[in-house]
Amino acid sequence: MTRLLSSDDQPIWHDAPDPAYPMLSDAIAVDVCVIGLGGSGFACIHELLDLGVSVAGIDAGAVGGGAAGRNGGFLLAGLAAFYHDAVAAIGRERAAAIYRLTIAEIGQMATAMPEVVRRVGSLRIAASPEEAIDCNAQLQAMRADDLPVEPYCGPEGEGLLLPTDGAFQPLHRCRLLAERAQQGGALLFTHTPALAIEGTTVQCPHGRILARHVIIAVDGGLERLAPELCGMVRSARLQMLATGPDPACSIPRPVYTRWGYDYWQQLPDGRIALGGCRDRFAAEEWDAPPKPSVPVQLALERLLRERIGSQAPVERRWAAQVAYRRDSILPIARQIRPHVWAIGAYNGTGNVIGAVCGRAVAHAAVRGDCSLLRLFDPSNA
Ligand SMILES: Cc1cc2nc3c(=O)[nH]c(=O)nc-3n(C[C@H](O)[C@H](O)[C@H](O)COP(=O)(O)OP(=O)(O)OC[C@H]3O[C@@H](n4cnc5c(N)ncnc54)[C@H](O)[C@@H]3O)c2cc1C
Repeated sequence: MTRLLSSDDQPIWHDAPDPAYPMLSDAIAVDVCVIGLGGSGFACIHELLDLGVSVAGIDAGAVGGGAAGRNGGFLLAGLAAFYHDAVAAIGRERAAAIYRLTIAEIGQMATAMPEVVRRVGSLRIAASPEEAIDCNAQLQAMRADDLPVEPYCGPEGEGLLLPTDGAFQPLHRCRLLAERAQQGGALLFTHTPALAIEGTTVQCPHGRILARHVIIAVDGGLERLAPELCGMVRSARLQMLATGPDPACSIPRPVYTRWGYDYWQQLPDGRIALGGCRDRFAAEEWDAPPKPSVPVQLALERLLRERIGSQAPVERRWAAQVAYRRDSILPIARQIRPHVWAIGAYNGTGNVIGAVCGRAVAHAAVRGDCSLLRLFDPSNA
């Protein structure tokens, strides 16, 4: 068995060295400073560039060094909550509007980067009779609102096929977005943590950014950068492993099961990326550092061998932090102080909804157009 823990905890997506961007070493002035160079931050930066404003983006680590480049690579429409649960919590009109926005976002991602996106759909597979009933409730709610879904029965089990979902190479996407943002005029700085936000000045170790607006686009650890969200948001570690190529397995599209707690996909080269089991060790995973742990990795390995039936060697193990919102199924997407905005807390599923929030907050900050942001305001019943 591969050593359970090693110093190399790079995700399966990390197949080339981190591209070099400068560290901030000066005082600069821009219209908008975006903190966090993950998928959500880059969606925001690109929208800001389209709106014609000057932008600086900073990250404490490398481009895509957080969850955005270390996740399962699923492109899922909607919120983390299943559609019928979203309808119950926020109403049919709003749940449907958000769902449609995320389908459109996946379409845009596939069009903009066909080389990193596979539009193969996804499967929600029931792990128990109770979950099968819940899948049926989701099916009925989605059909009632004319959203794309089909009942599914196949080698993976029984459940639902969501045909407009997909899979992607999340780290490549971040890196391509960074390249294109820089070509579009954005100033990007890595290994440049925001230490404090004073008014609309972002203080970093060796420089500062004076901006008209600051947008915090950080999922895991959001509450550390925006302490006013502390009671509302909490971060947790999610873990994954990946095998070498397994020709004995055929998993054509991403699968999630057991209420979304366990998830896996097979890459075109046959490698399997598998995550989950967090709920079984919840107490240890809250606020934990983004490093793999033995108990969760053992549980994942058992899932790989017993549920998926793969005997392929485990080649990678990794982890990252994401944020969960305590008081609502909606993510955080709002102004937290004058001219300081925050997006994050996608409850474990942020690849698509994070990009939607990134665009929405760009319009709110620069144009004062909060129509999209209102969708994410729990008080806006
Ligand atoms: C193991 C795992 C599997 C997942 N699988 C999926 C999936 O399959 N599908 C899905 O939709 N979602 C998935 N998620 C969730 C998803 O990855 C995240 O919700 C999403 O990537 C968040 O992206 P982001 O750009 O908002 O934030 P992040 O990726 O968290 O990016 C924020 C960036 O901000 C930087 N940062 C933090 N603090 C500071 C600071 N003080 N100063 C400067 N920079 C800072 C970080 O270094 C980081 O690069 C998964 C998450 C994990 C961990």
